[in-house]
Amino acid sequence: MATWSTLADLHRSESCKDYDVVLDNLAVLYSSTEELRCWKSEVVPVGEIDRFQIMDDLDDHDETQRVETLRSVLRLNDPVPPLVLVHGITPDRGKYFLLDGCHRFNAAHLEGTGSLPAWVAHIDCCGGPSPDMGNASLAAE
Ligand SMILES: [Zn+2]
Repeated sequence: MATWSTLADLHRSESCKDYDVVLDNLAVLYSSTEELRCWKSEVVPVGEIDRFQIMDDLDDHDETQRVETLRSVLRLNDPVPPLVLVHGITPDRGKYFLLDGCHRFNAAHLEGTGSLPAWVAHIDCCGGPSPDMGNASLAAE
């Protein structure tokens, strides 16, 4: 079996810029903390990532600039920080829900990049553990 990491482990090895936001979303959407041992470092096909998070209208100048900068990074094959994804079955949207890395994802989509490095959570799938913010664990603290 491959070894599992916690999000805290991964954050220590490669710092995530919006870590607080990721933690909030993980708690709210998946009832899980940074200590849940459900994470793997993977390379993920861009076409399998949540299509609902493709930005159709890049009206905002700053957003456009961020995506354009990342596109040139990808074009040069320079490394980008890993996306933060949750694996799950969402037939219309793709296999991976995007927790962090919206601009990197959109740049890769526009640039036609085949795959990107990502931290992927397997919560109750692929042999991964169940969420760790159940009532029982809260009561124990
Ligand atoms: Zn999985």
